[in-house]
Parts: sequence; structure tokens; C-alpha cells
Amino acid sequence: MRPLLLLDFDGPLNPYRAEEIPPGYVSHEIVEGEKSWVVLLNPQHGVELNALGATFDLVWATSWEHGANRLLGPLLGLPELPVIVWPPREPVSGVRRGSWKTPYVAEWAAGRPFAWVDDELNRYDRFYLDDAHQAAHLAHRVEPHLGLTAPDFAVLRAWAQSGSAA
Ligand SMILES: [Mg+2]
Repeated sequence: MRPLLLLDFDGPLNPYRAEEIPPGYVSHEIVEGEKSWVVLLNPQHGVELNALGATFDLVWATSWEHGANRLLGPLLGLPELPVIVWPPREPVSGVRRGSWKTPYVAEWAAGRPFAWVDDELNRYDRFYLDDAHQAAHLAHRVEPHLGLTAPDFAVLRAWAQSGSAA
């Protein structure tokens, strides 16, 4: 079964914590109706992700939801991708120490192997997934001031090649 590659946008593809524009990135102003956003994008990410599409099924796992296909993917040369649509956020009772996305990601993946890149992952997400998701999974945290780097892509390729995704 081909593994999924779940893509967060803000953090991995838009290093929103960067203090200045990192090498290789271009600042884009995105306007839709009355809304506008400024994002930093690295064209090389489109190249790398399209190459990973030979191995993985790419999926948007971002709060941009369908906006990722409409507004962001084309700027990176990405095709239209499946989108995880998040349920309405409920007030969290008690302490949840992992990402709010994690239970929904496990549910959406429905037993398929996946690698997931996101800037808000921590060990509690890994504990949750180890428990809730029987298939192979990699929850890979990306630094939101750096975005996806060559070592991150190397981790994804190595994971896919290691057979853990099979
Ligand atoms: Mg993020």
C-alpha cells in the first residue's frame, strides 16, 4: 500500500517564524476577496514534493483545507491534492499535550501508512499514534523558522525506502 505524505503548510512550507526571508524563499502576498496573507515559499519544495509523489500519495493536512489547493499548491507547482477537512474545533477540556490534529489524522488515515510533516508535533502525538494507528507512521516535526530542509526530505525518503512504509 502506498504511504500517504501528510503536509502541513504553515511551518513546513511557509516558515512563518523566520525572522527574515531564508535563502531560496520568495515572499508571496495571497489575496482572496477581502482576505490577504503573506507567505514564504520555496520553489524547490514543489520539485521535492513532486518527486516524492512517485512514492507517496500527497495529502494536505493544513488548516488552509481546500484553500491549499486553491491558493498555495499552484504557487509550488503541485497538482490538486486530497484535503483533510477538520471537524469544527470544540473547546478542549483538560490538558491535551499533543497537536489538535492528531486524532483526526489517525482517523483520516484509516490504517494506511503515513509520514506527516508538521511544526506542532511532539512526543505526545507519537504516543497517541503508536497507540491509535496500527500501520507504519512517521510524525516528523519541522522547525517553523526553517521550513522543510534537505535533511527533512532525506528523512522522508529514508523512511519510505526502509520498508517501514510497506
Ligand atoms: Mg503548522
